[in-house]
Amino acid sequence: MAERRKYKKRYCKYCEAKVEFIDYKDTASLKFSLSERYKIMPRRLTGNCKRHQEMIAAAIKRARAAALVPYTVTRKVVVTNPFENIK
Ligand SMILES: [Zn+2]
Repeated sequence: MAERRKYKKRYCKYCEAKVEFIDYKDTASLKFSLSERYKIMPRRLTGNCKRHQEMIAAAIKRARAAALVPYTVTRKVVVTNPFENIK
């Protein structure tokens, strides 16, 4: 019997879209790499390549410093879609 992959092979969606630069002001694209508690998602979950993960991490940290993305979220504030009030 042939070996089957347990999980679907993941692709870096930034490579697929040929993104060369990730803008920290573009919270809509950063949200794909943030958990509902605004933590940066690990590469093993998002499937991003190392190059893009580093760009995302830098962009998120920049966005945090610019108060576009909060650093921490208390238990009460956790919602299913944290980007509802960020426009
Ligand atoms: Zn990539």
